[in-house]
Amino acid sequence: MLTINNIANNDFVNIPSLVPIPDIMQSKRILAIQAHYDDTDISVGGLISLFTLQGAEILYVTATDDLAGVVDLDQSKEKAALALDEESQRAMEILGVSGLIKLGLPDAGDWDIHELRKSLMSVIRQYQPDCVLTLDPWLGTEAHSDHYKSGFAAVEASILSYVPGVEDTHVTIPDKFISSEQRDLISVGMFTTSEANCFIDITEVLDQKLLAVSSYNSQFSPEDMKNLLGNLKARAKHIANLGKSAGKLSNDTEYAECIKLLSPRALHAAR
Ligand SMILES: [Zn+2]
Repeated sequence: MLTINNIANNDFVNIPSLVPIPDIMQSKRILAIQAHYDDTDISVGGLISLFTLQGAEILYVTATDDLAGVVDLDQSKEKAALALDEESQRAMEILGVSGLIKLGLPDAGDWDIHELRKSLMSVIRQYQPDCVLTLDPWLGTEAHSDHYKSGFAAVEASILSYVPGVEDTHVTIPDKFISSEQRDLISVGMFTTSEANCFIDITEVLDQKLLAVSSYNSQFSPEDMKNLLGNLKARAKHIANLGKSAGKLSNDTEYAECIKLLSPRALHAAR
């Protein structure tokens, strides 16, 4: 029976997951799932570049068509889509991303999270990643539904893809990305997060990250792009300082990124 003391006690105790945190830098086959074409690179473009340097393969999935964010409203949708593709390809070449699958949902539109989850399950089942990266769907201040819906669809797809009875919606991915072997998903990394437990030293690849982000001209005016690049550099320095203070980075780290990193086993009841 509850007493007044039980009801009034607000001293909640945080219960950490008992599932060990995986080592993300051991990943060899990474699937990065984003709402928009620049989400991954803006948040963890340095991590992507480091993956490439160590010989990992990276495949991107972009959930939306990105057309709502295009700055020049005078150009046709077809021309805008072409420019977005060219900018994506340029950034992918700079960071060493192997491929991109576009799902074409309406940017900032009223699309269905379950439909995206089913499409992502199809991609995961074919590609067999050992690491999924996506937006943190539990970022408390996120107001853009494309972001939290894409992140949630991605983390849910990450656990349900391995349940045979859950149906997917077939998505055609290039043959070269279809895996012939079953692989365990080892880690799920959530970026744009306020609850980081993994800090990555990106000092040696910061320039590549900023160069890749500078490709995304369709959605930023020259002035906004200049501010974005400056903010990203300042943010990377700030994250490096936070990581060093937490004892998670060496003292010579100048720039860093951070993610919330979990084993997929920690993403449902088996905490
Ligand atoms: Zn976005």
